Amino acid sequence: MRKTGPKPRPLAERFWSKVEKTEQCWIWRGSLGNGGYGVISISVILPNGRRASCPMRATHVALELTHGRSVPPGVFVLHSCDTPACIRPDHLRLGTAQDNADDMRVRNRMARGSQRGHAKLTEPMVSAMRAEYLADTTMSYERIAAKYGATRAAVAGALTGATWQHVPGAIEPHALKRTRRLTEDQVRSIYRRHLDARESMSAIATSLGVTRTTVFNILHGYVWKDVFSACGYADSLVVRRRRTRWSRVTSDDVKAIRAAYAHGGITMWKLASQYGVSESAIQHIIRRQSWNDVV
Ligand SMILES: [Zn+2]
Repeated sequence: MRKTGPKPRPLAERFWSKVEKTEQCWIWRGSLGNGGYGVISISVILPNGRRASCPMRATHVALELTHGRSVPPGVFVLHSCDTPACIRPDHLRLGTAQDNADDMRVRNRMARGSQRGHAKLTEPMVSAMRAEYLADTTMSYERIAAKYGATRAAVAGALTGATWQHVPGAIEPHALKRTRRLTEDQVRSIYRRHLDARESMSAIATSLGVTRTTVFNILHGYVWKDVFSACGYADSLVVRRRRTRWSRVTSDDVKAIRAAYAHGGITMWKLASQYGVSESAIQHIIRRQSWNDVV
């Protein structure tokens, strides 16, 4: 018998329990992020050995669980069904940023801004909020949202031009990233607060008056790369998790992993952190869904 603490539910089980399969689309019933895309929190192990949860796009996880390899960084997952909450793997395809933009243009043509039944914003409101934001980029999305009676996601989309693309004056993403003028010290404090003190990204974002996305991007080294690597966090598990989820372990590792697990007293999570791979990779190894040739 293995004696372990409460065993986390395997990702696959947790994931598929949040999916409602209709005849066409498989709809994500878990939480939704900006733009109506499914989001699932995945537990990661931090360098200090503690766990933190990290949000992943449900579409990415669906592809990963289906095909056994992660979506490479910088690659977009596109829907052929135009349903953001759909995670049905055969409705998803990989594409470039350009494909993504083309897709979005087609969608905008089909349902332009305020002609959409559920749109709360209007073209003049979008222009006004963009101007207002550019005039004072320390303003939080929440404040703008409250002022215009829109959701935070609607504001984020409208400002960046992810929605309302036909209204000129969208703010370039790279302009958004640095306009908050966080100081280098503040950026360093974000690593410390999240990685060491386990403060949530939202709490940090609120206290610094930036968006959660900004904090997420900083923690993943997408922005402030120089500071990120200088802090030695380039190797942190938050990043390693992405890079090495399906990294190749050696056949000796595979034997050792199976032996350790069979011996008991160690969870898949623990093994995952020891070998720098994801829990599902460990699960596949143990269940012999991968590395069948190793006995
Ligand atoms: Zn679909």
